Amino acid sequence: MMRLAIAMLAVALLGVRAESDQGQAPVSPVKAWVAANQPALVRELIELLQIPNVAADRSNIRRNAEHLRGMLSRRGFTAELLETAGNPLVYGEMKVPGATRTLLLYAHYDGQPVDAKAWQQPDPFTPVLRPPGGPGRGQTGAEPLTAADGSLESYDPDWRLYARSAADDKAPIVAICAAVDALRATGRSPSANLRVILDGEEEASSPSLVPAIGRYRDKLAADLMVIFDGPMHSSGRPTLVYGARGIVTFNLIVYGPRAGVHSGNYGNWVPNPAQRLATLLASMKDDDGRVQVRGFYDGIPPIAGEERAMLDAVPDDSATVLKTFGIAAPERAFERLQDAVQYPTLNVRGLVSAHVGAGARTIIPDRATAAIDVRLVKETRSADLIARIRAHIRAQGYELVDSDPDDEARQRHPRLARMQVSETPTEAFRTAPSDPQARLVAAALERAFGAPPVRLRTLGGTVPIAPFIAALGFPAVLVPTVNFDNNQHEENENLRLGHFFQAVEIVAAVIGG
Ligand SMILES: [Zn+2]
Repeated sequence: MMRLAIAMLAVALLGVRAESDQGQAPVSPVKAWVAANQPALVRELIELLQIPNVAADRSNIRRNAEHLRGMLSRRGFTAELLETAGNPLVYGEMKVPGATRTLLLYAHYDGQPVDAKAWQQPDPFTPVLRPPGGPGRGQTGAEPLTAADGSLESYDPDWRLYARSAADDKAPIVAICAAVDALRATGRSPSANLRVILDGEEEASSPSLVPAIGRYRDKLAADLMVIFDGPMHSSGRPTLVYGARGIVTFNLIVYGPRAGVHSGNYGNWVPNPAQRLATLLASMKDDDGRVQVRGFYDGIPPIAGEERAMLDAVPDDSATVLKTFGIAAPERAFERLQDAVQYPTLNVRGLVSAHVGAGARTIIPDRATAAIDVRLVKETRSADLIARIRAHIRAQGYELVDSDPDDEARQRHPRLARMQVSETPTEAFRTAPSDPQARLVAAALERAFGAPPVRLRTLGGTVPIAPFIAALGFPAVLVPTVNFDNNQHEENENLRLGHFFQAVEIVAAVIGG
């Protein structure tokens, strides 16, 4: 009954929506195919979303992998599972007569763990279709939607499908398959040989991906890797991203007395590690936000030419972002967000010393700890920046110890600190926009959509597959396709259907252009 109501509401909205996603340009054959095949697209996505995909759930992960192998086979890919030390990779290959280049298309089929109780639907793996506004708008659309409901003639582009991995990252997988269908149905074929690699451990940091390269290097060889993952620009325009920052993290501990001591009996005399840590952190960054560690920005050339123009052309949404975050003004070191993400960061992500609030005591604490993350760019390798930070701390008079200080160290050094550096940094990667393969992707998107894509020189964040990209030795770009407000990794993850349908056009442009 409720399903029927949803269907009727959707049909009622049909007339209103007809113009909204179409624009002025004549409808391309692929766009027309997508419009005519919405039910099949939604049905295939729902079927895939119904298979739980948390990386640790081995048996369901294998069900996903087998299902995906079937999806690729049906499109004429030679498809198989590549076994690894962990979850299998799903691999497909399609040779195209006359093609002179090969694309390696990457997406991942695992998803973040779920806390089902936090979701506003009975089960994150039973997709729900809702009108704009999301959960909490009464019962309408809250009815679980099954594969059988992919039977509407068409869908309102503003409706959203709620399920784990709807946006991150199963929709792009269905879009890859559908793009092959769309090209074929409109009398075309991919313009490149295609290799598809679907990762089953991305949300668990892809531990098995890099080790698998040695075994499968021949299958993975290509001219360009295209990563279909992540949210597109908030404008909804097709987006091409040339890289991602890396990350290395550490805890910085400044030591005080062996145990907390009375602040009345010893205040003004025993050094306070919380105060000293604050001073040390303040020495690392000026008030404008520029890192003061010597050599921190070394080796990064000024951004000029095409790359400068590219940054300047990114639509500026900073006013909205600041308002959303409740911030009056950004730091002054890098005025614009697009400039700020081109450089490494030194970010205090947490601070702990003794107790605050009801638990606060009148003591000089025994230690103070800052948790710090450093985002890396292509020119700044993790080991170099860590070495420079160590040198900076030593230059402030600290002895750096490798473990909690013993008696001898405590007697000898008036200032003791420790850097606990994580052992698994991820380096940055970035492909030049002038790279011939990357140029082909930009040009294909421009031809298909009648305007250049939003081009981002780098993502501010990190993708765990960067080591995989580096080891393969050919360039990579990211082509994100889903709505930016998709709640990925959280409860109520969702996919705007208009973005899903456009994703098929985007993939068709990339592989057919
Ligand atoms: Zn993802």
